[in-house]
Amino acid sequence: MVGASPLASNYFHDEPTVEAMNLMGFDVGVLGNHEFDKGAEEMMRLIEGGSREDGSETSEKNFPGANFPYLAANVVEKESGEPVFPPHIVIERDGVRIGFIGVVTPETAEISAPEVEASFDFLDMSETVNRYADELRGEGVEAIVVLAHSGGSEKNGVASGEIVDEASGMDGAVDAVVAGHTHTYMNTRVGGAVVVEGGKYGETITAVDLSIDRTTGEVMASSADIIPTYNDELRPDPELRELVEGYTDRVAPISNRVVGTAAESINGSATEAGESPLGNLVADARRAKTDADIAFVLTGALPSGIEAGEVTYGGLSASHPGTNTLMSVELTSGQIREALESQYRSDRDRVLQTSGLRFTHDPSRPLGDRITSVTLENGTPLEEDETYTVAAEEFVAGGGNGFDVFTEGENPTEHGAELDALVEYLEGLPQPFEAPESGERIRIG
Ligand SMILES: [Zn+2]
Repeated sequence: MVGASPLASNYFHDEPTVEAMNLMGFDVGVLGNHEFDKGAEEMMRLIEGGSREDGSETSEKNFPGANFPYLAANVVEKESGEPVFPPHIVIERDGVRIGFIGVVTPETAEISAPEVEASFDFLDMSETVNRYADELRGEGVEAIVVLAHSGGSEKNGVASGEIVDEASGMDGAVDAVVAGHTHTYMNTRVGGAVVVEGGKYGETITAVDLSIDRTTGEVMASSADIIPTYNDELRPDPELRELVEGYTDRVAPISNRVVGTAAESINGSATEAGESPLGNLVADARRAKTDADIAFVLTGALPSGIEAGEVTYGGLSASHPGTNTLMSVELTSGQIREALESQYRSDRDRVLQTSGLRFTHDPSRPLGDRITSVTLENGTPLEEDETYTVAAEEFVAGGGNGFDVFTEGENPTEHGAELDALVEYLEGLPQPFEAPESGERIRIG
């Protein structure tokens, strides 16, 4: 719903996506991790309705929100311990009652802004499901479907991953688990339950068949199909088409504006040390915008790439997953070193692209002691106890993704949307523009 959406939705704060879902006639939905991307308040507004108060352009004055319920059984307010959304719902069709329980991966706490972890607890998924499955059975509901924004994957017929582990801990009363989040395909069975995941971006429809005994309400047999959706075989729904075209037209003047011309395509393919031309370009843009000594970019937050030729605002926006605010903070040389060390983790590295700074790391050294040299761009070492201005996206500057040291920084300052910093920078470059060479800023040694 929120996140890496096209400009026609993103520009209107993703209200168009909610409107599109309303037109699709869903009976029930489940919260995902990206719903938290713009903060809890905006998440509630999109789901429950209401107007933005910042005067920015939106779809309509009194946005109605989603016309179907969002479930999230394992997301509770830290203070009260109460669920933020309904944990479950019972839907009756043709005299048969089916219970739905919604859960979202507890990983959400770590991969969202720190504000999310501070406000909400994400409870264990299978324990939560079992509690509500009991409750549903107490109400006489025997057919139970879990909607899980948590995923797995399947290779050579063997399924694994978070939701597979969780499903094996779920009550036998659960008949089907519809998974997501990992964007993969899976059609398997864990215990008595069908566990299915149907890719991403509407490229499939997952059909789960449950044969239910009318007298007992019990599921007698179950199966699932993942059905591909091919564009050339689909006829757009007239109302949905009108909605999409309407917003696309409204956003066209912004979307089609040419911000520069790329001499060649610029991509995020990194050197062995972790540095990429695209990373250098975006980091330089951030440093220029904030006037900071040093700029960082989380590699995972880079645009997907810039094609050779004319670059439009809409094109950049489409390839840019985040619409984070650009921030600057003052960090000491020791804190900068700590930020660099914290890129390298036992599970998965979180590599930073840099501007104004060069560093060398040695992957053979133990974690926490891998940085072997840090200098400014001109080669002078960072001075002991000196303070430097450092730019980064709000997510990192706020301590997200384990970069806690940024929250120790002084004087946090906002510099507008990170996308706009890139746009302004590209507009100011001699045309056609090129990305800085890579290989100088991050080295191994
Ligand atoms: Zn997700």
